[in-house]
Amino acid sequence: MLVDYRVQQREYLLDISRALTAELNLDDLLQMVLSAATKMLVGQAGLIALRSLDGNFVIGASYGLPKPLVPYFQPLLADIPTDVERTHFAIPGLAEKLGQIVARLGLRLQQVVALPMAIGRNLIGVLYIFRAYGSRFTADDRQILASFADQAAIAVHNAQLYERISREKHRLDAILEYTADGVLILDAAYRVVVFNRALVGLIGWPAAEALGQSHDDVIPWAHLQTEMDMASAVRGGWPLPSARPLYVEGDLRRYHGGTVSVGITYAPLFDVEGHLVNVIGNVRDITRFREADEIKSTFVSVVSHELKTPVALIKGYADTLMREDARWDPDVMRDSLSVILEEADRLNSLIDNLLDASRLQASALPLEMDEVALDALAERVASRFRTQTERHEIVVTIPYELPIVVGDEGRIEQVLNNLISNAIKYSPEGGRIEVSGRGTPTDVIITVSDQGVGIPLEEQTRVFERFFRGTRERHQRTSGAGLGLYLAKAIVEAHNGRIWVESDVGAGSAFSFSIPRKSSHR
Ligand code: ADP
Repeated sequence: MLVDYRVQQREYLLDISRALTAELNLDDLLQMVLSAATKMLVGQAGLIALRSLDGNFVIGASYGLPKPLVPYFQPLLADIPTDVERTHFAIPGLAEKLGQIVARLGLRLQQVVALPMAIGRNLIGVLYIFRAYGSRFTADDRQILASFADQAAIAVHNAQLYERISREKHRLDAILEYTADGVLILDAAYRVVVFNRALVGLIGWPAAEALGQSHDDVIPWAHLQTEMDMASAVRGGWPLPSARPLYVEGDLRRYHGGTVSVGITYAPLFDVEGHLVNVIGNVRDITRFREADEIKSTFVSVVSHELKTPVALIKGYADTLMREDARWDPDVMRDSLSVILEEADRLNSLIDNLLDASRLQASALPLEMDEVALDALAERVASRFRTQTERHEIVVTIPYELPIVVGDEGRIEQVLNNLISNAIKYSPEGGRIEVSGRGTPTDVIITVSDQGVGIPLEEQTRVFERFFRGTRERHQRTSGAGLGLYLAKAIVEAHNGRIWVESDVGAGSAFSFSIPRKSSHR
């Protein structure tokens, strides 16, 4: 009978230690350890105290005890010797403490044995087994439990490490998932293993679909700015020393069509033997930088072109007039000087426009508000332009009854100036230019229409952009910096109004702007 029991115990020990090493869930593992140990020693209940990172002991699992009573056993965890000396391991006054606890709770537990769960001298926890009746725990019992506790200690330690690592992994996954930059992680075969939320937003591939795809399918370049993409760079192995990332920039084709400008920094991850394990790609949306770059270079080319023409004319005429070997009759003199004056004016207004545009970037446009009668203002501007052109008939048909508005007269004049000078500039064959006005219940709307070249539909929304010049204008020889409508729009919007265009190529254009009307009528 006794032999049977021993053999059974040993087999049980083997089975259970196999099972223990396979279990990585800490709670399940502790339950398994406890129930096995309790059964092995023919006990009725058990506890496991675990040592936490701060060195204190907490009850990690219980067996055979009603859950609400478990905290009452906490006193058994006091005075655990942490310097593990297996043969002498003893918790002082353990039996008495148990006696007090069970007396209070009305439980029938009489015997207790406690053994350290340790790896070498590193104490991980303590295993307590209780008996409600029967004989005291013997030296044999302790020995069986000791070898089991050793096995259990290793399994528990592994499960704890595993738990810590998976918690860490979850944290990293969350960081990767929610970081504002796009993150792409590839395996050694350049297949996608991580594709985060920001990247989904950036290039449109659904994450579930991107996973497992090859890098080149998910990152298709429409246009490359840098010398090579990753595919050609890594042909025949990672091209750079491990510390050096690879930077690729260009326009990516998005999943649902269209492109997006991105810069990708690829960093390789090698194992100890120097084999490539992962490539981590950090994907940045650089649309803004690109736009800023483009604006800067357009600015330089527009400004240099626009400044050069008048300067060359002024210089040419001044040179001629200065010649000592010639005498100019007064008519030629006056004509030349008027060209110089005109060109100087043109320079002046270009400089004003540039200053306005740069001020606009820094802050909103300051306005000096007053009551403005638009009919009189339009008539004044129109009559100034009439002296400059013979081909165009400029008429103002704003009814006198049009309500006055509150606005900055100088700025509204600037808008009219820009619209009328464009109407002249972009109707080279001449024609009628009409400045009309009407009131709606909320706004006053002024329209400047011409019979000129018109604007193709695809350019109609772009004409209000900074430095935008129509394709034809860029190739033909009208001058302009592409700032007039940009400034007009800014001025109108500063008045809480809107500006828009209707146009047919070959038939003409009509630019309108609205200004909210003042409540009073005249
Ligand atoms: P700029 O005249 O200096 O080019 P604007 O901002 O005034 O700059 O105009 C931007 C573009 O809009 C022009 O280059 C031209 O292509 C188009 N545009 C403006 N007004 C007219 C118009 N009345 N008729 C046809 N095209 C126009």
